[in-house]
Amino acid sequence: MLPSHLNFKVLKKRVSIEQVLNDKGLLTSLKRRAGTLVGPCPIHHGDNPRAFVVNLNRNIWHCFTACDSGGDVVEMVRRLDLKTYRETAEYLASLVQSFQLMFTHCLWPIRRGKSPFSPFSHRLFLQHETPFLKKKGIHATTARRFEAGRYLGQGFLKGCIAVRLHDPKGSPLGYAGRRLEPKEALQRGKWKFPVRLPRNHILYNFHRIRSLAPKSLILTECPWGVMRLNQISVPAVALLGLHLSPSQQKLIAFVPQLTLMLDADSAGQNAATRLKSQLDATSKVRIASLPDGLDPDDLSDRELHALLEALPF
Ligand SMILES: [Zn+2]
Repeated sequence: MLPSHLNFKVLKKRVSIEQVLNDKGLLTSLKRRAGTLVGPCPIHHGDNPRAFVVNLNRNIWHCFTACDSGGDVVEMVRRLDLKTYRETAEYLASLVQSFQLMFTHCLWPIRRGKSPFSPFSHRLFLQHETPFLKKKGIHATTARRFEAGRYLGQGFLKGCIAVRLHDPKGSPLGYAGRRLEPKEALQRGKWKFPVRLPRNHILYNFHRIRSLAPKSLILTECPWGVMRLNQISVPAVALLGLHLSPSQQKLIAFVPQLTLMLDADSAGQNAATRLKSQLDATSKVRIASLPDGLDPDDLSDRELHALLEALPF
């Protein structure tokens, strides 16, 4: 039985189909006409501009072509994401305004430690051109390729720069969020990750570099460094922190040369020394020391190149 805040009767009343479509970045392909939304069906991915109709007042939808069926918000989420009823309820609950409260007080204690991590495979609509990424020197085309950008919807990633995460084989796991509000980032950490994300078993960008079988690889703290290095054609993965688990180390054991390019603060530099001795057994390791107080994404492309070229192994 589902906990009370996952009651479908309540959720159907509180979450509109429009809200779901907006959250998933699907609203832009639909036209608003006299109390309806009309456009190509996002469920069967058709292109008939009149196939899919949402009745906004009654909060129901219908596809008149390939699906030839319709229903309420629950049925739509189930069809869009191929979710179970439980997952659908959790997703809808995440869209309810008071989600944060419910989630902290009800959902976590019930689920913590009991169920395994469940990946979120849906692609979110993100704004790739943002001042934050621009300041980091990340081009909009890079952000698009890496599926990173400002999230404009509600819920877990509200107000964050979202970055899509994958498992080592490339299956999507969901998104990490970089908090933009400075006070919040200071108090709660810059990054937030999906609940129970198996962080010890993933390296950011590993699935992309795996097939390249590089002779040399750079390890950074954050995805930003990875994206910047990608722009100068240098393969990199991010630790999403300052630790390397045995399982993460196994992933990169095939790379003969590793470069640690962590932030130039004391935490980053201590970690670099520790990680070097951890990795020395399997690979040649060098530490790229950045100018005081700078992160890899603070350097220009030319400075990044120069730094790597000047380093001996
Ligand atoms: Zn359809």
